[in-house]
Amino acid sequence: MINAKARAVFNPEGPFKPTTIERRDLEPHDVLVEIKYAGICHSDIHTARGEWGPVNYPLVPGHEIAGIVTQVGSEVTKFTVGDRVGVGCMVDSCGECAHCHKGEEQYCLNGMTGTYGAIDKYGQYTQGGYSSHIVVTEGFVVRIPDNLELDAAAPLLCAGITTYSPLRHWGAAPGKRIAVVGLGGLGHMAVKLAHAMGAEVTVLSQTLKKKEDGLRLGADHYYATSDPETFKELAGSFDLIVNTVSAKIDISAYLSLLTLDGTMVNVGAPAEPLSVNVFSLIGHRRSFAGSMIGGIRETQEMLDFCAEHHIAPDIEVISADQIDEAWERVLASDVRYRFVIDISTMGNE
Ligand code: NAP
Ligand code: ZN
Repeated sequence: MINAKARAVFNPEGPFKPTTIERRDLEPHDVLVEIKYAGICHSDIHTARGEWGPVNYPLVPGHEIAGIVTQVGSEVTKFTVGDRVGVGCMVDSCGECAHCHKGEEQYCLNGMTGTYGAIDKYGQYTQGGYSSHIVVTEGFVVRIPDNLELDAAAPLLCAGITTYSPLRHWGAAPGKRIAVVGLGGLGHMAVKLAHAMGAEVTVLSQTLKKKEDGLRLGADHYYATSDPETFKELAGSFDLIVNTVSAKIDISAYLSLLTLDGTMVNVGAPAEPLSVNVFSLIGHRRSFAGSMIGGIRETQEMLDFCAEHHIAPDIEVISADQIDEAWERVLASDVRYRFVIDISTMGNE
C-alpha cells in the first residue's frame, strides 16, 4: 500500500481535516501520479454535502488532477516516469460495453468508476485529488501538453471537458450563436472554448458585475438575467445554450431564447428537479438536453485543442488550508474562475 497525504471532510458540513489515505500497490497497467495541483469543482461540494445522495465519510474530493508520473506498472505502455499527466472525473469503466467501445466511457453501460466516492473493481472506496498521490489504470490517464502549465491545466480535466464535449457535439463553429449561462468555473471555460471554435458567444450572468471579464474571456455580448428586458431582447436568438448553473433556474424562460431547432444543454447539476413548460419546447421545435463530462479520447483532444489555441482557465491558486474558504466563495458565486489547490502546501500529516 502507498500512503498519501490528503484533505478530507468527515461529515456533510466539513470542515476539511488532514488525513492519510491508502492507495493500492501498482497493478500491471497502473500508474502512480504525484499530484501537484487539484481544481475545486462545484460537484465536489454537491457530493460532499450529500446533495446528490448519501456518501461515505471521510471523503477526499477532487477530480481535476494534474501531476507527474512517478512509477509505472510492469505492463504500462502509454506513460513513463516523469510524464506530465491529468486525471479527471473517472478512473475506470467496464471497457466492454457499446459505449466504452465508442470512447464514451463516461456513459459506460455498467457504470463508470468515479474518481471519488465510488467503489472500484477492487472493492475499494475511491478517494480523489485533494491528496498527494493517486494510482490509476493508464487508460484513464491523459497527457498534459508541454505548453500548458500544470496548475492551469488541472481544471481542464473537468470544467474543460464538460464544456468542450457539448460544444463539439452540438457543432460550435463560425456562424453559430451560443449563449453560456453562469460565468463560473465551467461557464468561463465554455466562453473561451466556444470563442476559439469561432462561435458568436453571449454570456448570461445574474448581474453585469463580471461583464469586463466576460468580454476579455472571449464573449461578444454580455447580459444580466436579473433584468427582464434581457429575455425580451434575446428571444429566439441562439442556436445553442449551455447552462452551467449549479442551482435551479427557470428553464422555460431560457428555452424561449432558442431559435428554430435550437438546443439548450444542461451541464449544471442541481439536486432539485427542473420543470419545463412544454410550450417553450414545441414552439420552435427546440430541444432540452444534458451532457456529462466527456470520454478519455475526447479529453485528450480537448487538452491538445487548448494547447494549440493557448487556452487555459483563469485560476486562483490556494493552499490546502484555504479549501473551506474557497468552497464558501464558490457557493457565493465569488470565484474567478477556478480555485486550484497547490498540493505541495498539504504538510506532513
Ligand atoms: P461554479 O463555479 O459555482 O459556477 C456556477 C455559476 O452559476 C456561478 O458562477 C453563477 O454564475 C451561476 N449561479 C450560481 N447560483 C445561481 C443561481 N441561484 N441562479 C443563477 N445563476 C447562478 O460551478 P461549476 O464548478 O462551474 O459547476 C457548475 C455546475 O455544473 C454544478 O452544478 C456542477 O455540479 C455541474 N457539473 C456538471 C458536470 C457534468 O458532467 N455535467 C461536470 C462538472 C460540473 P453568475 O455569477 O455568472 O451568474
Ligand atoms: Zn467537476
